[in-house]
Parts: sequence; structure tokens; C-alpha cells
Amino acid sequence: LERTFIAIKPDGVQRGLISEIVSRFERKGFKLVAIKLVVPSKEFAQKHYHDLKERPFFSGLCDFLSSGPVLAMVWEGEGVIKYGRKMIGATDPAKSEPGTIRGDLAVVVGRNIIHGSDGPETAKDEIALWFTPKELV
Ligand code: ATP
Ligand code: MG
Repeated sequence: LERTFIAIKPDGVQRGLISEIVSRFERKGFKLVAIKLVVPSKEFAQKHYHDLKERPFFSGLCDFLSSGPVLAMVWEGEGVIKYGRKMIGATDPAKSEPGTIRGDLAVVVGRNIIHGSDGPETAKDEIALWFTPKELV
């Protein structure tokens, strides 16, 4: 069954949005197969966002991801990669539709509270980066 990597970024954890976000995925009917709270190092954040290393905001983005606890999760279900992205909403919360997580709960792109894998290959790579096989239930 399809799996995706979802993370609540330090701003989402700090703002107390864990239960709100987890409950949206639970209510939809997706299955939680792994979850842990971690403070990633900057090097780890750079690995996670390696596709964006040429972008001007890369360093700030990695500093931010490593600035506090991140709730790392793996969710499973039919279509969970694409539908998870739909639930999350557009990258820039100013353009996210109301009803999406970013649309309802965030305002600026640098503090958009949640990450979701953008395709099957990145989902596979990100799950392997953040979790050991034993941590997947
Ligand atoms: P994520 O990978 O975090 O789920 P995304 O796939 O919607 O987000 P990406 O293009 O992968 O968007 O960008 C990764 C993250 O980099 C964004 O979530 C955002 O926090 C940050 N980011 C993207 N564009 C900008 C920008 N123009 N300025 C500042 N930060 C940005
Ligand atoms: Mg992305």
C-alpha cells in the first residue's frame, strides 16, 4: 500500500497544531504507520531538502527545520501521496485554499507548518531518511 512522509515543522509543533493536523489525516481514513518527535541537525535538514540546495532560501530553510522539534510521520493509504499534498495545500499559504491545512492555519511561505512528500520517489527516499524499517509498524 502507498506510503508518504509527512512532517509537522517546528512552527507547527510550537504553535500546538499537532493534534489538529494528525486528526485531519486520521479522520480522512489514512493509517499512521510511524511517528516520532525529533530535532534534526542542520546537516540532516540539508539532506532532507537537498533538491532545493540551489535556491536562495535553502540555508534559512534548513536552519529553520533544525530549530526545534519536528513531528515526523509516515501515513499509509490509497492515493495518500497526492491526496496528502491536497490536504496540505499550496506551498505559499497565501495561495492555499481555505479548508487545506496551510490555508486554514498558516500565513507565510517560510512558516508553512507542514511538509509532505511530492511523489512516489521522494516518499520512498524521505521515509528511508527519517525512519529505520523497524520503526514502521
Ligand atoms: P514541503 O517540501 O515543505 O512540503 P512544498 O513541497 O510545498 O513544501 P517546496 O518547493 O518543496 O514546497 O519548498 C520546500 C519549502 O521551502 C517550503 O515548504 C517552504 O517552507 C520553503 N520555501 C519554498 N519557497 C520559498 C520561498 N520563495 N521563500 C522562502 N521559503 C520558501
Ligand atoms: Mg517539497
